[in-house]
Amino acid sequence: MHAERCAMNLDELVADLPKTELVYLKETERARLESKIIRVVPEKKTHAYIVMDRTVFHPKGGGQPSDRGTLRSPDFSSTLKKAIYHKGRVVHWVKMVSGTVVEGSVTSELDWQYRYGLMRRHTAAHLLDHCLATASSKPVQTTDSWVDEPSYVGYKGQAPSIEILRQAEDIGNQMISHGAEVQIAFLTAEEGRLLLQSAPNFGRLPDVDEIRTVTIQGCGAIPCGGTHLSNIKEIQQLKIDRAEQLPDDAHRVFYSVPT
Ligand SMILES: [Zn+2]
Repeated sequence: MHAERCAMNLDELVADLPKTELVYLKETERARLESKIIRVVPEKKTHAYIVMDRTVFHPKGGGQPSDRGTLRSPDFSSTLKKAIYHKGRVVHWVKMVSGTVVEGSVTSELDWQYRYGLMRRHTAAHLLDHCLATASSKPVQTTDSWVDEPSYVGYKGQAPSIEILRQAEDIGNQMISHGAEVQIAFLTAEEGRLLLQSAPNFGRLPDVDEIRTVTIQGCGAIPCGGTHLSNIKEIQQLKIDRAEQLPDDAHRVFYSVPT
């Protein structure tokens, strides 16, 4: 397979630009957005780097892959290959379909089916933290995660037994069938350090001024910049597939969300 990679100096590309408004942080279910291209750097005739004043595309990061979709205007049409977060700006690396990119108005459209799958698996990852902690009667500490397929959450310590995994899965599926709202809030860094100490990823809090938290009703708040469902009912089903022990006293729990 031919691997497509971007080779741009991103420091130079975003140097004097304002920070990108990250629309997906507040409007998670928004699939279409009108915005303004404030920088464009063509790459040969086939690709281009685009920065907009605001974006609906979640860049790769926090265990979530880059969104997919299209960017179009009357002047051009393109397919998003990768949204990259760089120093407060989102750089969109696109493959040209037709025309030439110019600065000005543009319409972004998410590949909603792909994003919705990510949202289901990402929300399930938060639920998994809660269910594993409940089933094992001890807090969990996450190390990393990946919400594309195959999805996993990495944790510190020894992998749980099959019994604990089954119990966690049962707890998760009971919660899914009852349903629970997923709430978003924004805290100052100071509030975050006070209020989030029992969060499974507290040890990995980023050094930022504002911390976004995600809370499944009935579970603890988790700092996270990803995209989630508004109710865990939409996960439909949590399946814990296996746990894999890693060196350095850590393990991964692989899971899926069959429909
Ligand atoms: Zn999250």
